[in-house]
Amino acid sequence: MADKNFLEEIIESDLESGKVDSIVTRFPPEPNGYLHLGHAKSICLNFGLAQKYGGKTNLRYDDTNPSKEDVEYVDAIKEDISWLGFHWDKELYASDYFDQLYDWAEELIQRGLAYVDDQTQEEISAGRGTVETPGKESPYRNRSVEENLRIFREMKAGIWPDGSKVLRAKIDMGSKNMLMRDPILYRIKHAHHHRTGDKWCIYPMYDFTHGQSDSIEKITHSICTLEFDVHRPLYDWFIETLGIFPSHQYEFARLNLTYTLMSKRKLLELVQKGYVSGWDDPRMPTLCGVRRRGYTPEALRMFCDRIGVSKHEQMMDLQLLEWCVRQDLNARSNRYMAVSGDPIKVTLSNWEKGKTEWFESPLNPEDPEGAKRRVPFTGELLIDRADFMEDAPAKFFRLRPGGEVRLKYTYIIKCEEVVKDADGKVVELICTYDPTSKPGAGEWRKVKGTIHWVSCDYAKEVELRIYDKLFLKENMNDIPEDRDYKDYLNPESLKVEKGWAEPALLDDRSGIAVQFERTGYFVLDKDSADGKLVFNKTTSLKDSYKASI
Ligand code: ATP
Ligand code: MG
Repeated sequence: MADKNFLEEIIESDLESGKVDSIVTRFPPEPNGYLHLGHAKSICLNFGLAQKYGGKTNLRYDDTNPSKEDVEYVDAIKEDISWLGFHWDKELYASDYFDQLYDWAEELIQRGLAYVDDQTQEEISAGRGTVETPGKESPYRNRSVEENLRIFREMKAGIWPDGSKVLRAKIDMGSKNMLMRDPILYRIKHAHHHRTGDKWCIYPMYDFTHGQSDSIEKITHSICTLEFDVHRPLYDWFIETLGIFPSHQYEFARLNLTYTLMSKRKLLELVQKGYVSGWDDPRMPTLCGVRRRGYTPEALRMFCDRIGVSKHEQMMDLQLLEWCVRQDLNARSNRYMAVSGDPIKVTLSNWEKGKTEWFESPLNPEDPEGAKRRVPFTGELLIDRADFMEDAPAKFFRLRPGGEVRLKYTYIIKCEEVVKDADGKVVELICTYDPTSKPGAGEWRKVKGTIHWVSCDYAKEVELRIYDKLFLKENMNDIPEDRDYKDYLNPESLKVEKGWAEPALLDDRSGIAVQFERTGYFVLDKDSADGKLVFNKTTSLKDSYKASI
């Protein structure tokens, strides 16, 4: 991209002025779900900036909410970041800082800047006031330092039940910024934590954790999404009040994609209620989902690069992502022929019975000198039903009664006779082939259409899972109040078809999606077993979309 984004400008100016010697960023996922495409944007940004400016990026789990978090997610997050092609400097956990955070909380109490509040959650919310009206001070706001310390230590010791007390910072109940109206620092939660076990029954809030964690790690540029800009004054208040390393927070616009939901809470619901087969269902916008769908890390990085970084919320077109996937796969994927659904049998009446002829063709026409595959040709073939039409319009250049078509890589055939079953459905085409039309043999005779095919004797049966959008609504962030996001689930997002593929497909070791010629990109699925190959449709070949950014 030609222009620098605003973060690059800030970083370059900070490096130039000597404000920082080198940059340190972090990616701070909460391990309460699998990463999605929005996280990919944040990862590409945080790791990408550090790479560009010779800095480092930490992976820091924001694990302060024990009830929703799990090691399953911790492991999956690492796998996804590595798959995207990035390497973190240190693997860290906000929970590693619980002791330090606790000490800072006591320090604030000692300095008269924090107090224990016994009000209920409702009373605290009501006392906060509204954007228009100032808040009311809690009746517990002026407890003595000694009393606050004693009760806070009791909270830590487990004497008080969940929800009975919180620790709040004493800032300003009249502040225009609601988050500055004595924010909660600690709540009581008698819950087992996936790392600290039962050591703690009080847990720090996000706002009391994030900035200080950045500071402990000497993060120079703490990059987060726009909705956190109201948190910045609080982020700065803790760092300044505690006099610790001055990390700074910068906000960018989150990624929104058409027809796509990116909220871990809702994605979890889809998984738990069985609307999808799991977090890695190929229709999910999770990184494990798109990976299983056949999207490549190269394509995702290309996409993140193209959408750039902005300070204003935008809706990105899902088609741009698909375009990036096609760009990448077109350059790298191996080609094979396969027919699917309800193919038509083609019998060549003038082919010598039992004879097989082998044709060689490049695995990828983008690399004509590269590896080749061998394709067997026999007298009984399958073609896609869509490639034949009985009463075809003039512009139909595939096969019709009495018409000719070239079979890809091989001969021209002519349709001599149409065989139908009792219901009038076409079941077989009796054709003749033109032996002089063999590629490389004499003059190349041109016919208008070329179609793909497979040999009946050699075809391998496969299962094809054809996917469509999971949701039918373009803007899934804008659900009317009387509707549920699940109302927009696409009932036809998955279709399963049988397919028959040329045998060389079984030897494919590329590890990425292949192209079924004239059909689309397909990737081998983990549900495959010996003798049963399952392919997920990654994306179609159709490329009407013009990338404009
Ligand atoms: P969700 O709302 O889906 O649960 P989250 O923001 O709660 O997402 P975190 O695990 O806290 O998820 O996010 C880790 C990082 O990824 C944060 O810095 C967050 O700002 C960023 N992030 C999350 N969603 C997006 C998105 N759609 N676009 C860009 N960055 C995102
Ligand atoms: Mg979050």
